[in-house]
Amino acid sequence: MIADRRISAFRRRLAEEKVGAFIVTSVPNVRYLTGFEGVFDDEANVACLVTPELVRVYTDFRYEEAAREAAEGTPWVVYAPEDSIYVHMVEDLTLQDVEEIALESSVAYGRFRFLSERFGGKVLVVEHWVESLRQVKEAAEIERIAAAAALTDETLAHVLGVVAPGVRERDIALEIEMYMRRAGADGVAFTPIVASGPNSSRPHAGVTDRALEVGDLLTIDLGARVDGYCSDCTRTVVLGSATDRQREVYEAVLAANLAALAAIRSGVPGADFDKIARDTLTERGLGVYFGHGLGHGVGLEVHEMPSLSQRWRDSIMAGSVVTVEPGVYIADFGGVRIEDLVVVEEAGCTVLSSAPKELLEL
Ligand code: ZN
Ligand code: ZN
Repeated sequence: MIADRRISAFRRRLAEEKVGAFIVTSVPNVRYLTGFEGVFDDEANVACLVTPELVRVYTDFRYEEAAREAAEGTPWVVYAPEDSIYVHMVEDLTLQDVEEIALESSVAYGRFRFLSERFGGKVLVVEHWVESLRQVKEAAEIERIAAAAALTDETLAHVLGVVAPGVRERDIALEIEMYMRRAGADGVAFTPIVASGPNSSRPHAGVTDRALEVGDLLTIDLGARVDGYCSDCTRTVVLGSATDRQREVYEAVLAANLAALAAIRSGVPGADFDKIARDTLTERGLGVYFGHGLGHGVGLEVHEMPSLSQRWRDSIMAGSVVTVEPGVYIADFGGVRIEDLVVVEEAGCTVLSSAPKELLEL
């Protein structure tokens, strides 16, 4: 049923754009359109062909059995040729008399060249046709994201119990990964960020051997993947007693987070929510240290559409799942980020993250 609905929606887009055939090469987009859960890993050799008449999945022996099983009762037909899946696909396009194909802009350059050379007709490269459908989540997708968010909260509560002077960033990151796996996650949604002391002023710091010290700000950004769906959450804590300046920065970031959460609802451009958070920080003299956008969509991928950034003029649709993550990063002082995951609704939003937000002094 899921596959039927998604294919119908996608075919409407193809009809609007007057494109006869679409080749899906992005693995998350393949997962979405087929609804084949747990069949394809991130590096899978897989591509789909969608035309008004047929939907075909091309893959190889490694995924064939699982894909055929998943395809039962769906319109998808699975092909697992012994030679290249793209050679096979071009033969099929020729047999179908297709004159024009659309490829995703994320297609690897070598594949693009191969398809352009082998296929005699016109080749278009288009952006975000499947991704834009993925923005509005179905109830079953929201359930999975909520499960991933709950598992993430549980993991965070566990690792905050491990935080102490002398523990290395690396140990905390490993603890996050182990806990999530044990608790039933497919894995981590992304490599956790554990940024302590001076490292915390880098929004996406790599995990290091640095041992935590009293007085550190410690930012932990983590997410689990559950049944294929991601979560994303950040909290910042202090080791020992917070200084006045640490508390002041923390309260400003929290105020920005809460102001944006209070404003979020569908039908408003993403940039407007970014502005609310940014203005809150600017009023406190900290806007200049907020160097990234307010948030991003989360679903099959941890970063997807829509965006809550200064550049995103499109209205956010009800059913989107987005992060709200203002941050302040000051070199030689440290950084604070507070990130929640929310479901956007017509009258507001539901916050999926439940980890406490008052400043913890550990
Ligand atoms: Zn995050
Ligand atoms: Zn995020």
